[in-house]
Amino acid sequence: MNWITNYVRPTINSIFSRREVPENLWSKCDECGTMLFHRELTDNLNVCTNCNHHMAITPRARFKALFDAGIFTEVKVPEPLTDPLSFRDQKKYTDRIKDARKVTSEKEAMLVVEGEIGRTPIVAAGQDFSFMAGSMGMYVGNAIIAAAERAVTLKRPLVLFSAAGGARMQEGILSLMQMPRTTVAVQMLKEAGLPYIVVLTHPTTGGVTASYAMLGDVHIAEPGALICFAGPRVIEQTIREKLPEGFQRAEYLLDHGMLDRVTPRGKLRDELVTIIRMLTHQPPAVSGDLPAPAPEEAEESAATAVESASDKAPQDSKAPKKK
Ligand SMILES: [Zn+2]
Repeated sequence: MNWITNYVRPTINSIFSRREVPENLWSKCDECGTMLFHRELTDNLNVCTNCNHHMAITPRARFKALFDAGIFTEVKVPEPLTDPLSFRDQKKYTDRIKDARKVTSEKEAMLVVEGEIGRTPIVAAGQDFSFMAGSMGMYVGNAIIAAAERAVTLKRPLVLFSAAGGARMQEGILSLMQMPRTTVAVQMLKEAGLPYIVVLTHPTTGGVTASYAMLGDVHIAEPGALICFAGPRVIEQTIREKLPEGFQRAEYLLDHGMLDRVTPRGKLRDELVTIIRMLTHQPPAVSGDLPAPAPEEAEESAATAVESASDKAPQDSKAPKKK
């Protein structure tokens, strides 16, 4: 980040488009309503500095903060057939995908990468809620299988960050078939004796909870995350009873034995390093010994370099997107 992306560009945008002012410079916390300065929020991994509410974070931003020096390599995911049912509701499914790609600058709802955290090699997969609610379709299934296969080939643990509204209904039964497919992928890891760690983020629901998100060796959740199969509103309407306070939230599930840990986003990296090194019989990393994630300097110069090139190549997927 530098002052051009954080201050100058939003200011210029705000002069030309009044509507964009709050989104560009300030974000409002959905929990306490505090207006947070964009940079302050990204520096704090999208966690509200006032009330500690964990807002959504894209897999790319998460991985940048997670991996040593912010360096990771993408793992290729085989492309499935697009829209096999020629599905259409108010909008064509193919148009929905196109729109989601435009908004997120990502190909699909799951990003698979490899790299090192605390000098510990891992494969990681992150689900992107901003891409059609992170819904599990054939691509997400393929991504998890690619992640598991890569982990087995490299003999590395797999860390998966889940976030989904459930299965992708536009793919009908084909989306539900991803449940057994991903279960088999997780089984491959178990047979290879490799740890599979799931970090459940807000919200993880439906067929995702009912398959790969609940099959980990260790389940860690972010504070306040909703984790369920059917949501509280649906349950309340069905049983016509008031549900207990905090029902299906991370802390409630920890108390009731569904989770192993609830860990704030800022402490997640160190905790993952400790757990992975323990499970793979490596000596614990001394905390001062860990290379710091994403050094400000390197990022700054990269951002500046892209800044000057961005006029020519706005479609470059590696360029920092409108902030
Ligand atoms: Zn807040």
